[in-house]
Amino acid sequence: MQRIGVLTSGGDASGMNSCIRAVVRKAIYHGLEIIGIRRGYSGFIDADMGPMNLGSVADIIGRGGTVLHTARSERFMTKEGRAQVMENVQRFGIQGLVVIGGDGSFTGARLLHQEYGLPIIGVPGTIDNDISGTDYTIGFDTAVNNVVDAINKIRDTATSHERTFVIEVMGRNSGNIALAAGLAGGAESIIIPEIPFNIDDICQKLLSGIKRGKLHSIILVAEGAASGLDIGKEIKQKIGFDTKVTILGHLQRGGTPTSFDRILASRLGAKAVELLMAGETNKMVGIKAGEILATDLNDVIGKPVTINKDMYDLARILSI
Ligand code: ATP
Repeated sequence: MQRIGVLTSGGDASGMNSCIRAVVRKAIYHGLEIIGIRRGYSGFIDADMGPMNLGSVADIIGRGGTVLHTARSERFMTKEGRAQVMENVQRFGIQGLVVIGGDGSFTGARLLHQEYGLPIIGVPGTIDNDISGTDYTIGFDTAVNNVVDAINKIRDTATSHERTFVIEVMGRNSGNIALAAGLAGGAESIIIPEIPFNIDDICQKLLSGIKRGKLHSIILVAEGAASGLDIGKEIKQKIGFDTKVTILGHLQRGGTPTSFDRILASRLGAKAVELLMAGETNKMVGIKAGEILATDLNDVIGKPVTINKDMYDLARILSI
């Protein structure tokens, strides 16, 4: 193997840059050439790509987002789109591909492997931390820290004004960010898509909190479970609390990656290159109990991990 490609795809996640840096530098260390593909599969179809060198990844380890940019591509979902990608694979002499992204990006990568035999290795880069075969995805820790930072700030106001605050966080299908940030930030209630909730129970908890002298509360809602605005309205209707709602939105993803994400991204990126060099394909690199390992993509795609129920129960106990 002489030349490999790297791309980022799907939603951006902090730490993707640290991973690109690791892929590029590890490849060059082993004498490989590396092609950076911009805008995910979309740029792959349009041949928006070119060689990278040691300097291309200078000063990016601590920058959020992805210098290669990312995109979602409808065209890649078609056979014609993928044929165009393969033309560019030939044209640029790419013999292996590292795809940094989520489940959808891996589904696309697997098709390149299945239909054309292109060696591909996936690296989990998504803030939701809902991918099988790894305990952590790149970007999750940074997103959780971003949310905890917001909780800390909002709590200052909630305490000063003795108010209830609802904070809506990302997670259409996954409550992992809400759960981890809720536990770390001491939220009084956590509402996530995986576990049904009862608004009356939440109101009851608010009322009993008041009874024992609690002057403020924070309720964390994952966007996929309910709308923060609706929860705020319902609380006001049911128990009359003047509830404020904050939707964190895109404040959660970006910003400088945490050391955890930088280290994870560096280790996973380097491992992806090693696997390609060893002739592996159709695998995703991940971390399990501290060990970097590879899992067959067929055991990853379409098998999202569920939330940690013990952690959810603990958050409930500790927020009484
Ligand atoms: P995130 O978890 O951040 O959303 P993701 O990788 O799951 O990341 P998607 O938007 O689902 O993000 O997928 C990224 C791209 O991968 C899509 O725009 C598309 O080009 C490709 N892709 C997704 N699903 C498929 C599929 N079933 N077949 C071919 N390509 C796909």
